[in-house]
Amino acid sequence: MTTVHKFDGTCLSQSAGLVLAAQRIGAGPAVVVCSAVSGTTDALTAVIEAASRGERDRVDSRLDRIAERHHALAEAVDADADRVSQLLAPVRSLATAIVETGLVDPRLTDRILATGEKLAAHLVAAAVRSGGREASVHHADTFLPTDAQFGAATPIRGITDRTVSAALTEDLVAGRTAVITGFIGRAPDGATTTMGRSGSDLTATVVAAALGAERVILWTDTRGLLTGDPAVVADAQVIRHAHYREAAEMSFYGTRLLHPRAMIPAQAAGLSVHVRSMDDPLDPGTVVDGQFSRAELPVKAVRAIPEQALLSVEGKGMAGVIGVSGRVFRALADEGVSATMISQTGSEASICLAVDKRTAESGASAVKRAFRPELSRGEIEEVAVRRHAGLVAIVGLGMAHTPGVAARALTTLSDAGINILALAQGSSELNITIAVDEHDVDEAQRRLHAAFDLGEAAPARAVTEAGAKTRAPGPPPSAAVNVAPVASDSR
Ligand code: ASP
Ligand code: MG
Repeated sequence: MTTVHKFDGTCLSQSAGLVLAAQRIGAGPAVVVCSAVSGTTDALTAVIEAASRGERDRVDSRLDRIAERHHALAEAVDADADRVSQLLAPVRSLATAIVETGLVDPRLTDRILATGEKLAAHLVAAAVRSGGREASVHHADTFLPTDAQFGAATPIRGITDRTVSAALTEDLVAGRTAVITGFIGRAPDGATTTMGRSGSDLTATVVAAALGAERVILWTDTRGLLTGDPAVVADAQVIRHAHYREAAEMSFYGTRLLHPRAMIPAQAAGLSVHVRSMDDPLDPGTVVDGQFSRAELPVKAVRAIPEQALLSVEGKGMAGVIGVSGRVFRALADEGVSATMISQTGSEASICLAVDKRTAESGASAVKRAFRPELSRGEIEEVAVRRHAGLVAIVGLGMAHTPGVAARALTTLSDAGINILALAQGSSELNITIAVDEHDVDEAQRRLHAAFDLGEAAPARAVTEAGAKTRAPGPPPSAAVNVAPVASDSR
């Protein structure tokens, strides 16, 4: 067994997709990880929201729609329709309990959301069986241990290796296809957890690492990881090769193409991760692995986070005082505000943070409260908020070996008349993030994309068989350099 196939919800939203998915896994026993049929997690979230507002009718109509959709898919792939109703029954009663009590918590939410993946696994297994093979369904909340962080659970490494192989070995030995629910796991007390949106990617790499697989294919509806957002940058290209750290870094920005933590088990186990379009089996998509060569472009991608605000804490009384930034972050954390960019000047007289626009006011008030004495003594002059900002980032490991990348980025923006509000580069030199006015975010992405030659297609690696690839004539192995693991500095 060398490949774990993971199917995105977009692949499973029509019966033709279910049939294609079964074909893509090829002949022989396989391990398949499923996301929920696209839109289902959102629909279940809407059920929970309606229930917590006491809107019984809306709960019913939304659940009916989810049921109808899955029944139609079940019929198309010869899946047991009763099983669909059975899986949805607990959701109905949990939602009713929420309507009656008005109480909902992350634990309950996870139990409900997990149903999307259970439904999808049932459908995919049926499609595999229709293709003439044996398949069995495995609910990961029975065998994939995670911590108890409901809504954002992390698999417990070390233990997962044992429990995953214990759960799947019998199938694999018997030549059956194991179809596993993505996204979900089991808390120490046995409750169902979820790993955050796009969590099925993480399930796939955890399962592959546990089984000693060589490769994970993340089948989706785009051609791979892209150099930029195609809605903004017209000539965005598929990134043919990325290092784990580059892929992890890109995953923080907006698109749900990759779960931010999926690269951690992948790197630890040395898996190669392929992001590919299910509709185009000859396109090799993006290959992510631990290789990196200096022949690759220093910048691989441009990313953006719109709708930000900048918070700055300024004062000459801050210089040399230990613990100021600690208190800023504590105040924000206690308020549930997360910083998307941080920069502090060498004089220590100014700390600037980017935060989600919607949290700017509460974040600023929290910081003001925390520094009330310093503000009244004038040691801190102000806690200022600048609304209407956005972040643009360039990402690539090669920047670390290429002088002038930051200079090029800054000149590019200034030549375009785009004002830079703040700037951050980590010492890993993997990412340079630039805060600009909200109105400049799109143009900044286009200019940077062009300045780093990202609109020119990189040569694809040839596909030799379904999934297996040979390397394009790349740089000799001696040009490869070692790079540090992914976990440490990718936020
Ligand atoms: N169904 C979940 C989501 O929509 C998890 C996943 O698809 O990976 O985010
Ligand atoms: Mg996904």
